[in-house]
Amino acid sequence: MTDTLAIGGYTGADAQALEQDFSAKIVSGLDALDELSPEAREQVRGVAYQGHAPFDGEQMDKLPNLKVIANFGVGYDAIDVAAASQRGITVTNTPNVLNDDVADLAVGMLIAQVRDFEAGAKAVRSGDWAAKGALPLARKMSGRKIGVLGMGRIGREIADRLAAFKTEIHYQSRSQKDTPGWTYHADPVDLARAVDDIVIAIVGGPETEGFVSAEVLAALGSDGVVVNIARGSVIDEEALIEALSDGTIRAAALDVFRGEPKVDPRLSKLDNMFPLPHIGSATVETRAAMGALQRQNLRAGLDGQTPPTPVN
Ligand code: NAP
Repeated sequence: MTDTLAIGGYTGADAQALEQDFSAKIVSGLDALDELSPEAREQVRGVAYQGHAPFDGEQMDKLPNLKVIANFGVGYDAIDVAAASQRGITVTNTPNVLNDDVADLAVGMLIAQVRDFEAGAKAVRSGDWAAKGALPLARKMSGRKIGVLGMGRIGREIADRLAAFKTEIHYQSRSQKDTPGWTYHADPVDLARAVDDIVIAIVGGPETEGFVSAEVLAALGSDGVVVNIARGSVIDEEALIEALSDGTIRAAALDVFRGEPKVDPRLSKLDNMFPLPHIGSATVETRAAMGALQRQNLRAGLDGQTPPTPVN
């Protein structure tokens, strides 16, 4: 038996590296812990984790000698870090290597909604362009006021890119940052009132649950677009469905959803919601970099050294 479990949908080069370098046993999900013998579970000291299913203290207790959980991804809201700390388990993530991809996607999603890409594509494919003529006019992207909610690593990359589109950058964070003259707002409702569109880049988890509330959406207003690349939990999804349905806001573009990969059908059927299946970091280059960093963290944790990117 091995001291390393890889939990998640590992395939290709990542699966090969985990098997070759760690002799890891790959299992598809946390449910598989119950199928291992007590002796096998006792041997496990490191877990490479990939997934969004909750990894809580009860699951950790099934691996009594666990030392490190190396998460594949920067967001670690699925892992109960407090429970891990109590048990002396180090949790790591994969920050920075995915910033560019996630920021590129966010900017693409915003432009897609401001300029009505999906309606345009549908008109070409369906023949409506030829049959019915031109579409209603969209809105101009340059010159819009954009509110970045969460000026962390990814938020900063999003703002830098959007500034190049001649937009006016506003942001909300818990503390003011050193920026090139961007406007700071301590409160998300104040931010929404001041801008045309919001791009969400805050962490997920209980502390930011429903952070983008009905009040924030109402303050954004009927021309506003909401882009979410963070986590589904950060938006009050009921309020969002209502705001998109009754014209409180113009449109949304979402890469993340509550309860994903299942999406509330009331949301997915809305024409003014552009959905993507959580692909923020899903490029060959970035996934390879994330895998490499995950394995560096795992190796350090197993060797009793400080990993490159710990979160506790
Ligand atoms: P980061 O550098 O840690 O930035 C996190 C931001 O969240 C910061 O602005 C921080 O505010 C804010 N924040 C943290 N705790 C908060 C709280 N309790 N209340 C309000 N704001 C809070 O993280 P990052 O690397 O930019 O990643 C951000 C998130 O993007 C990740 O956590 C992940 O969920 C998501 N993500 C999604 C994808 C995707 O595929 N769609 C890919 C990667 C990441 P302060 O500035 O005040 O500290």
